[in-house]
Amino acid sequence: MTDQSQPSAPGRPIYARMAVIGCGLIGSSVIRAARAHGVVGEVAVADSSAAHRTRIAELGYADVVTADAAEAVRDADLVVLAVPVMAMGDALGAAASGLKAGATITDVGSVKGQVAEALAAAAPASVFVIPGHPVAGTEQSGPDAGFATLFENRWTILTPQKRDDAPYQAALERLTAFWLALGARVELMDERHHDLVLAVTSHLPHLIAFTIVGAAADLEEVTEGEVMKYSAGGFRDFTRIAASDPIMWRDVFLTNRDAVLEILGRFTEDLQALSRAIRWGEGDKLQAQFARTRQIRLGIVAAGQESAEPNFGRDRRG
Ligand code: NAP
Repeated sequence: MTDQSQPSAPGRPIYARMAVIGCGLIGSSVIRAARAHGVVGEVAVADSSAAHRTRIAELGYADVVTADAAEAVRDADLVVLAVPVMAMGDALGAAASGLKAGATITDVGSVKGQVAEALAAAAPASVFVIPGHPVAGTEQSGPDAGFATLFENRWTILTPQKRDDAPYQAALERLTAFWLALGARVELMDERHHDLVLAVTSHLPHLIAFTIVGAAADLEEVTEGEVMKYSAGGFRDFTRIAASDPIMWRDVFLTNRDAVLEILGRFTEDLQALSRAIRWGEGDKLQAQFARTRQIRLGIVAAGQESAEPNFGRDRRG
């Protein structure tokens, strides 16, 4: 793992033409941020949703909007795939005949091992494939959900292929400069390591949220509406995460199965240990665990990845 973060020179076009395949929350945020920082010239978009294409054209931040991926990538120096994880390979396959030799192909998928394999299989030898994942997002979807500051001070993880030739390294440096210009911090990582880390920090928490919200909804019969009424007590934060896009998350769990199951096994053991401590009245064990997790939260705030304000600063935002 290598932290690539260095000050960037804003306002300098890094790619003359960028194509984005799949223009929802993340794709549209990449375009908005790239436009805001002046790091791209022309922008072309391909999206399979007719409704989204109409909306993207109305928003006016793309020079070309089409259903045809090969048309969108023509003459593009950078191609960003921002479709659900399991659609990445097919999306690149659909674009392949239009790709310019020497173009950089990247993606924003939340899983990297299987995506890296799919992109390598679908790409012609004349392009540079550099998989990536901006660790930033919300529970919303679609082109209206994006915003230019989404990546600011967030990590983008790039999982480059194992090749050290000069043209590939130059493409990697250029893509790194692009993400830094969007306000992101950049780290290079092996794709399997990425999938294990994200299983802990993102995939398992989402699985827990999906489970708790589903279970609480089932318990509504017992509690007669009290779950929704008193949802501020921690449950509300789970409902926000559990509202995330069903297709995106289906794909994440199907493509990161091994890492998620490994981490889930560890989590289940730890949950059993806590359950035992509660059953046997072992307050010291519970207190020690909660003191440890409070310190972890303080560490995340100190690292600038979360607000220290009560209730995540929501009350002040009104
Ligand atoms: P999104 O808002 O649903 O946008 C995806 C867009 O791609 C939609 O307009 C979708 O159309 C379109 N699309 C689907 N398959 C396509 C294909 N084969 N060719 C062209 N367009 C296609 O999704 P998102 O939240 O931006 O997520 C996109 C990627 O970013 C995913 O791989 C996800 O893992 C990753 N990611 C998401 C987050 C997050 O918080 N959401 C964070 C980091 C990374 P339809 O709606 O008609 O399918």
